[in-house]
Amino acid sequence: MIIEPKIRGFICTTAHPTGCATNVQRQIDHVTIKGAIPSDRKRVLVLGCSTGYGLASRIVTTFGSGADTIGVSFEREPGETKPASAGWYNNRAFENRARAAGRKAATIEGDAFSDAVKAETIEAIKANLGQVDLIVYSLASPVRTDPKDGVTYRSVIKPYGGPVTSKTLNTGTGEVSEISVEPASEEEAAATVKVMGGEDWELWIAALAEAGVLADNFLSLNYTYLGSELTWPIYHKGTLGKAKADLDRAAAAIRTVHGAHAAHVVALKAVVTQASSAIPVVPLYGTLLIKVEDEMGLGEGPIQQIDRLFRDKLQGDPALDEESRIRVDDWELSPAMQAELAKRWGALTTETLSDLADLPKYREEFLKLFGFAVGGVDYSKDVDPRVVD
Ligand code: NAD
Repeated sequence: MIIEPKIRGFICTTAHPTGCATNVQRQIDHVTIKGAIPSDRKRVLVLGCSTGYGLASRIVTTFGSGADTIGVSFEREPGETKPASAGWYNNRAFENRARAAGRKAATIEGDAFSDAVKAETIEAIKANLGQVDLIVYSLASPVRTDPKDGVTYRSVIKPYGGPVTSKTLNTGTGEVSEISVEPASEEEAAATVKVMGGEDWELWIAALAEAGVLADNFLSLNYTYLGSELTWPIYHKGTLGKAKADLDRAAAAIRTVHGAHAAHVVALKAVVTQASSAIPVVPLYGTLLIKVEDEMGLGEGPIQQIDRLFRDKLQGDPALDEESRIRVDDWELSPAMQAELAKRWGALTTETLSDLADLPKYREEFLKLFGFAVGGVDYSKDVDPRVVD
């Protein structure tokens, strides 16, 4: 069949197997061209392994440091005439390439929040790796069912404490407008912390410890976004920021049990992913950031960020901020870049958008998440949606 993008709001409901495989290959190329990354952590578990920062982490550890990996993600399988989720294609493309390079790669597709998937993952660790030295937690989900009481919580992306009015962008039409978002209720804020906070991370570490599959001196990383003052009202000071603050609490709790170096939150830069495109205001900030960082020669996507994390920041004793976080958002948050972003933000309108920001590149990055708009791929060619090379 011929597979084309079908975009509904901030999601694309189709994905292209050849485009996804090409994306995976290009990320692998980025790492291998830069050369080996010294690391003793050769047995890696990546939670949220199929797209965005999790996929980049699996690629960097495998192809940079020669690690064997187990990945966990939530996917839609393909049908005879129905494409799979992009993550399903990415997982298959990754496994094929990792195994061809002589690395072990097992993937569990299911709900990482559930006890069943935790148990299945522990069995896979025992069978394939024995233990794990590194656990990367990179889940981004709008919903979580608490395995203890079966209650399903939904996260909301809202301000906290009071309403927020901000500029926003309709990425489909290119229209810049003002939105007002009402603050979350206490119940909504608490639900968001349940979904995107640190509780499930702690449950994973506790389950792995109890099963005896955590190596001595293991390290666990969990990814956060702190971001620019421009997005603080909706993000850092909103419900998602509250959930992310809970990661700092969880990291400290894990360190208390397992040692001072066992867990760190890593602050990463804003990139276009399925998760970030759903956040109001953030796509407008993203179109600006893409343009300004490119002009400054500092443009980075997930693979560049995660390569820099493992190649530079995690060598030796990592430098930590006052909350014991590792910072890879240093370029985005540099005073020079933030000053330029703030200046342009004030001048942004529908009319000035094409001069000040880069919506075409943002759209291209969005399509690439699903294997479309990937250079060198012949989209007119008939493909079997069940096959990925
Ligand atoms: P993403 O949407 O690209 O990836 C999310 C991953 O989680 C996917 O592999 C998905 O399959 C998996 N997942 C979701 N629900 C699941 C479930 N129930 N069970 C198993 N797997 C599940 O997201 P991303 O942007 O790469 O985000 C990853 C982390 O990085 C998040 O914590 C996010 O807050 C953080 N982060 C993102 C940005 C950004 O700009 N995108 C910036 C800084 C930090």
